[in-house]
Amino acid sequence: MTNPASAKTVHIETFGCQMNEYDSELIRAILRKEGFAFTEDKERADIVLMNTCAVRENAHNRVYGHLAELKAIKKQRPLIVGVLGCMAQNLKKELTETEPIVDVLVGPDAYRQLPNLLNRAIESQEQGFLQKVIAVDLSEYETYEDILPERAEGVNAWIAIMRGCDNFCTFCVVPYTRGRERSRDPQGVIREAEQLIAQGFKQITLLGQNVNSYRFGDWDFARLITAVANLPGIERVRFTSPHPKDFPPALLDAVAGHPKICKHIHLPLQSGNDRILDLMNRTYTRREYLALVEEIRRRNPEIALTTDIICGFCSETEDEFLDTYRTVEAVGYHSAFIFKYSERKNTIAARKYRDDVPDAVKADRVARLVDLQKRMSLRKNRELLGRTVEVLVEGDAKRSPSQWMGRTDGNITVVWEKDGLETKPGDLVPILIQDASATTLFGQPVIRGGF
Ligand code: SF4
Repeated sequence: MTNPASAKTVHIETFGCQMNEYDSELIRAILRKEGFAFTEDKERADIVLMNTCAVRENAHNRVYGHLAELKAIKKQRPLIVGVLGCMAQNLKKELTETEPIVDVLVGPDAYRQLPNLLNRAIESQEQGFLQKVIAVDLSEYETYEDILPERAEGVNAWIAIMRGCDNFCTFCVVPYTRGRERSRDPQGVIREAEQLIAQGFKQITLLGQNVNSYRFGDWDFARLITAVANLPGIERVRFTSPHPKDFPPALLDAVAGHPKICKHIHLPLQSGNDRILDLMNRTYTRREYLALVEEIRRRNPEIALTTDIICGFCSETEDEFLDTYRTVEAVGYHSAFIFKYSERKNTIAARKYRDDVPDAVKADRVARLVDLQKRMSLRKNRELLGRTVEVLVEGDAKRSPSQWMGRTDGNITVVWEKDGLETKPGDLVPILIQDASATTLFGQPVIRGGF
């Protein structure tokens, strides 16, 4: 039988988190092996796949917006439309019943089946059937261990070391869309990291929905990140996203002390009020969270902290919001992702609680917190004025090709004029910080070897 894929070109659009970016790289590798080709231009694609996110309302709405665009293309010519990832998993019924243009629905644990499913969709379209092809079973074991993702060239590469989540925060769909926690064999992770270093990547980010709960036999996350950071040729190792409950002393020591592990911890707070934290099932109190912050800073005050916060969770009062506000003031994050609570279908919160904080109140709380965070970010960034920091060059600055853009160890963006020296992406450059906004540091290179 001829492979219907042989002449088919795929366009992939990715929404949501870094895990989805990584999964799109996996999907490219799986499809490439089976003869599919790729295009960046969806107008020229035979197949458009949307790798979706169900965590935030914004990403969810963007997917529906793109589906409307694809509807117009599909009226003019044959096109296979696939919805992959968390929305496919979480909204399969809704997408099956209300979106006739969706031909293929594939959840995060079924990507190995994608070539066959696409071939079936192509065949049924060629034969004039309108039949959806669906694979959304969750697996207790799938880690795509043997598949090397097809990565774009660059400075940073991601490695997913674990998948799924067992925490069941009440607002979150991930445990339902990505299933139970499972960790990869550490030897496979280390081999993949060695290959990336050999390909020229300077920074590796270890990824997982709950990355620091990694466990494989007697390997925990502290052991794994230290092993990756010890590999010859690596410059920086990062990790995301951790849960505050999984920071044993060995991990704090590794982050604080290992020269190749970035001095940055993303520590999702979500709320600074104990009643709301309990309703969210976050399993820590404000006091425990602040004690962890203290432990981190006691080991190394240079570690930059960032966070995620939800405003207006079910039944949150003004006083409870103010507890969050005061916690943000007390911690002094470098930056924060601040969101209005939006109910996600099939979560515990959607089933048990009422989404009863008015939208205007949520928006007002977000605005106040964003305003506070901007001032705190500016203050933190100004602390670096006059200091020389090591910056990993990522590429041209967004606003001007005559400037470089890179990041500090603490993940703060730095911009500087190109200096005529032979700087290139992937270099580590010492930069004297001369100016700071809330989001960006500005400076100039100091003479090489000047640390
Ligand atoms: S830790 Fe909580 S917020 Fe994070 S993925 Fe798991 S359930 Fe979702």
